[in-house]
Amino acid sequence: MRFNTKVIRAGNNPDPTSGAISVPIYQTSTYVLEEIGKLKGYDYSRSGTPTSRALEENLAALEGGKGCVTFASGLAATDALFHTLSSGDHVLACDDLYGGTRRLANNLWKNTGLEFDFIDMTDPQRIAEGIKPNTKLVFVETPSNPLLKVIDIKAACDIAHGKGIKVIVDNTFQTPCFQKPLELGADAALHSLTKSLSGHHDVIGGAVVTSDDELLEQLQFNLLSVGAPLAPMEAFLTLRGIKTLAVRMERAAENSIKIAGWLEKNEKVTRVIYPGLEGHPGYAIHKKQSTSPGAMLCFELDGGFDESVKCMNRVKIWQLAESLGGCDSLITHPASMTHVSVPPEVRAELGITDSLVRLSTGIEDADDLIEDLDQAVSE
Ligand code: PLP
Repeated sequence: MRFNTKVIRAGNNPDPTSGAISVPIYQTSTYVLEEIGKLKGYDYSRSGTPTSRALEENLAALEGGKGCVTFASGLAATDALFHTLSSGDHVLACDDLYGGTRRLANNLWKNTGLEFDFIDMTDPQRIAEGIKPNTKLVFVETPSNPLLKVIDIKAACDIAHGKGIKVIVDNTFQTPCFQKPLELGADAALHSLTKSLSGHHDVIGGAVVTSDDELLEQLQFNLLSVGAPLAPMEAFLTLRGIKTLAVRMERAAENSIKIAGWLEKNEKVTRVIYPGLEGHPGYAIHKKQSTSPGAMLCFELDGGFDESVKCMNRVKIWQLAESLGGCDSLITHPASMTHVSVPPEVRAELGITDSLVRLSTGIEDADDLIEDLDQAVSE
């Protein structure tokens, strides 16, 4: 099956009891045994439901992995990955990544003895230099959030695997529609299902896809033992959202390409960050490992912070909100919203300025989105 067929058919089998074409929402906490020791495949919904199982099958097929475990949120999935480590282990992570991942690492996992370093991975040589004798995981987000830095996944995997270290790629921004980390050598692809996969701003969820049997088993054990499963309704909505993943992603990327071109020409805009622009430092690598520049972009305005705030407060079609990847276009101020938990001095060092505006392009008419930005940046 090709990708556009897999989004519809992988895991989406007619319900065995009724033939329902949509995988039902199995709203149940427990399952009746046929007799002692004889289950019909499920015992208690903390470790999965037929709805979440169907979604896991679908996601594994889309990413080209052997298996998948879903969780209550993207951060719960990240947390489950960190749980596979032991006190004293070191995680080498990219420096520009979702603020909540950094908060989880610095404010919770560091207290239990895990070590973290956050480094610029755009030059793979820095990954080689950052690896320590106790490094167990290389954590990559590409393009990164919010600065859209591009990391060479294959190069990162070659370096890490040479030392027996696993590589996790947060593939939330691109989704398997545009980028397949496992094919590039990654040990696991991590997702916030909250974003493009569910695609309608109505779900919180997370997932990890892997072909590593040991990791899969550890994640399943985590789900059972920690207990942050994806609820059946969320699994259903994500399965439904994925059916239109390719058409949504392609349309959103098409809109983003037009918007990036318009921003580049606007005299009030001082900086545009989009991996589809030839001037982006990661343009060539991104083109090599991803089939589209994607639907996320950032810009800064001439008047700095005040002008950016004015623009974000003036938009009418773009909506001022956290999150990304839905049908509705969102405009975000990373410094005060998604990355507020990153200390100001770290934000400054990374280049997440107070005037940086992040766009998650949806599937509305590109001309309406451009006109709205135009009126918002005009005097
Ligand atoms: N990874 C990325 C790239 C994100 O943008 C986010 C959330 O914004 C997460 C992970 C965390 O996902 P969730 O909000 O579903 O916990």
